Amino acid sequence: MKKPVVFLDFQGTLGGEGLEDITSFEFFPFALEAIQLLNKNNILAIGITNQSHISKGLITMEEYDTKLQLLKDKLAIHNSFFDSVYCCPHDNKDHCNCRKPLTGMIEKAKEEHDLDMQKAYVVGDMGMSDMVLAKNINAKGILVLTGVGRGSLNEHRSSWQDVNADYIAENVLEAVRWILNDLKINL
Ligand SMILES: [Mg+2]
Ligand SMILES: [Zn+2]
Repeated sequence: MKKPVVFLDFQGTLGGEGLEDITSFEFFPFALEAIQLLNKNNILAIGITNQSHISKGLITMEEYDTKLQLLKDKLAIHNSFFDSVYCCPHDNKDHCNCRKPLTGMIEKAKEEHDLDMQKAYVVGDMGMSDMVLAKNINAKGILVLTGVGRGSLNEHRSSWQDVNADYIAENVLEAVRWILNDLKINL
């Protein structure tokens, strides 16, 4: 059966500051609750993360994999999980098709899961990558004000000027609550 899906940005959305490399990333406490809520309501929680630090040689793929496993272990302690996590390790110069706002990671997710793309959401803090991606896949986009979210709405608004967020949330937990309401799931 097709399931609703929330594509979740990592840095600035689920934790961290937005632009640092992932080795220093830690979950915001409310991010664990947000992912739990998705899991409990049978909504796919799929991580999608641009990791150009890998292409730039600032971290290795192995360091990324090790960190991701630590984060998954942390979720497991809190009885929650990602249904999948997809990573674009490239930089602009690599001309890949997966670096957000391009849609390669979403295409991969569609191959591996039975997604209800009529009930698809992207939650992220960067307008030019996350909100433009939402538009590119015809999903609803929710911009969070953590990470670089406020900057996306202010000094960087011109970088995604043709797109509007469907909702602006204080953080990922409020975003997930909005999504549950949008899907008419009672809590
Ligand atoms: Mg981000
Ligand atoms: Zn890529």
